[in-house]
Amino acid sequence: MNKNFQKQLSTINWVHYDTILLDMDGTVLDLAFDNYFWRELVPGVYAEQHDITEDAACQHIYDLYSGREGTLEWYCLEFWTEQLGLDLLALKKSSHDRIRFLPGARTFLDAVKAGNKRLVLVTNAHQHALDLKKAVTGLDQWFDEFVCSHDFGVPKEHPDFWCQLQEKLQFDPATTLFVDDSIPVLDAAVEYGLAAVVAIRKPDTRMPPKDTEGHYFIDGVGWWI
Ligand SMILES: [Mg+2]
Repeated sequence: MNKNFQKQLSTINWVHYDTILLDMDGTVLDLAFDNYFWRELVPGVYAEQHDITEDAACQHIYDLYSGREGTLEWYCLEFWTEQLGLDLLALKKSSHDRIRFLPGARTFLDAVKAGNKRLVLVTNAHQHALDLKKAVTGLDQWFDEFVCSHDFGVPKEHPDFWCQLQEKLQFDPATTLFVDDSIPVLDAAVEYGLAAVVAIRKPDTRMPPKDTEGHYFIDGVGWWI
């Protein structure tokens, strides 16, 4: 265990906060599904449809992705459905059996619910993707509210998102904990003035731990229990 991890555990603990805002993909659910979907399945199907190699499809599609990173379009199922000419929602539904919780996440959600905290899921995911994941995982049983950044017109990386979220939820930044796996999103939350912002170091169970770039971090929410 390194020094930063010990510091994080001793200074930020979910039990001390009234409101807990959790990201979905990579924080509650395994990002392995999304990485598989966008980086393997979509290029594979695209290659088949256009009769090109998977490598050529990957190169083309990854270039398109990187041009939109950090924008709402990057997270928009309809945008990519149109760009790639593929029925992405149908493709997601066909691979829904790969949607899984991260290790310990369910136990953590049980504990938060038992602790009578206000629990809100705050995601950049498109509403249709959120609906599918709710149907597969039963997230409704733990969360009091769900917020999709698409409803605000800006992603979580944007300062305006946080102003709109505060207006909607009326949370107190001093007693609110926010957990996410995206560094630009965490940066925006810190910039807004949230007292407790924590990064997930292992958002994808198929990948090694990521560099959380100076943020307080935890391997996964299950580590708090
Ligand atoms: Mg995430």
